Amino acid sequence: MPISRRTFLGAVATAPFAAGAIWRGAKAPRVAVVGAGAFGGWTALHLRRRGCPVTLIDAWGPGNTRSSSGGETRVIRAIYGADRIYVAMVKRAYELWEQLDSSLYTETGVLWLHRGDDAYVRSSLAHLKDFGFPVDQFALDDAAKRYPQIDFSGIKSAWLERRAGVLSARHACGVVRDAFLKLGGTYRTQLVQPDTKLDADVVVFACGPWLGKLFPEIPIRPTRQEVFYFGTPGGTESFVPPRFPVWIDFGERIVYGIPDIHSRGFKIADDTRGETFDPTSGDRTPSADGAARARRVLSERFPSMANAPLLAAEVCQYENSPDGNLIIDQHPQLKNTWIAGGGSGHGFKLSPAIGEMLADAITIGRDLPKPFALDRLKDAKSGTQFERKS
Ligand SMILES: Cc1cc2nc3c(=O)[nH]c(=O)nc-3n(C[C@H](O)[C@H](O)[C@H](O)COP(=O)(O)OP(=O)(O)OC[C@H]3O[C@@H](n4cnc5c(N)ncnc54)[C@H](O)[C@@H]3O)c2cc1C
Repeated sequence: MPISRRTFLGAVATAPFAAGAIWRGAKAPRVAVVGAGAFGGWTALHLRRRGCPVTLIDAWGPGNTRSSSGGETRVIRAIYGADRIYVAMVKRAYELWEQLDSSLYTETGVLWLHRGDDAYVRSSLAHLKDFGFPVDQFALDDAAKRYPQIDFSGIKSAWLERRAGVLSARHACGVVRDAFLKLGGTYRTQLVQPDTKLDADVVVFACGPWLGKLFPEIPIRPTRQEVFYFGTPGGTESFVPPRFPVWIDFGERIVYGIPDIHSRGFKIADDTRGETFDPTSGDRTPSADGAARARRVLSERFPSMANAPLLAAEVCQYENSPDGNLIIDQHPQLKNTWIAGGGSGHGFKLSPAIGEMLADAITIGRDLPKPFALDRLKDAKSGTQFERKS
């Protein structure tokens, strides 16, 4: 991939280090992590746990409203089609989220609803079994009895992934940063630019949707995504876990929702990629069209919510890689520079495992998974093809 040599050559003050440098016995490298979202925060925390002096830098703060980690909640689930590597990462991520702060997770289960083919779920079953994630297939009559809030019209198959649920998002980024500070890490508010000098041996760029701006040759396409919160009926917990799960409705579009957690409302979002979006200055006014579409889904699928008031909305962006897979790699030319990104609408849950992989690669030279390597994208342009992973 033609990475410009000019890009960020000025970012690191000291001499570049060899690929996969092993620091055993030597002084731990001083690391600057640019970006305090989920990916950068966890990477900084793992590096600090390994004894590296680490400075975490963000232009607007951990989990800020412009960042991709900036919303209220994110789904964690292990069904990932035939992609075994992600199931393994979800397993590890569960352990790390739990160790950090178990209150960040609410178990709800995820109900997978299919109007057509359910091959995505079926192709995951063997991996789920291996990693200990229980899944039940429902007869539709039973599903309707268990979830009277849902109208199952048009649904051909329903699966419940039991060990799955919801993570706090922006709040978790602050918790990760605070854990990092407690271990003696340094945090700084700064906008890093190509001519910024960073006093570090190694720099990690975990800049989410901004990665493509900083490294124009890395094909990340931010897309505009809208999320709506509707008010549930008063005095009942029918849309609150454990009575109501996260749900994903696989129709022509893929729409999903999160129960009323933290009393914020019934969250509903459309996973279809929106238009290309500028994360710094893009207009975050929710669209009337998006709200109307969300309400149509509500009235068809959750009739008692048909006239629910709209309480709030968020406009966020996915940071899509061309194939929907993560990008976790060493820069091919700047050997003291590492990249973590490409969350593509599904990366948040994985962030503890991503940070751990990267910290191991930097400190002990452990290989990173090939599916996340930059060279797979050498012929890709951002936005050419999107394989959905979220
Ligand atoms: C609406 C929506 C729903 C989603 N749903 C899910 C879900 O259910 N489950 C799931 O697992 N994932 C989900 N995702 C994806 C997930 O949230 C993201 O992939 C993940 O949060 C990306 O984290 P990040 O750290 O890479 O990026 P970010 O959170 O964007 O962090 C990057 C940080 O870098 C900083 N930065 C950028 N440039 C600079 C600079 N030059 N100098 C200093 N700082 C800089 C920014 O301020 C920002 O804080 C969803 C995303 C969206 C938008």
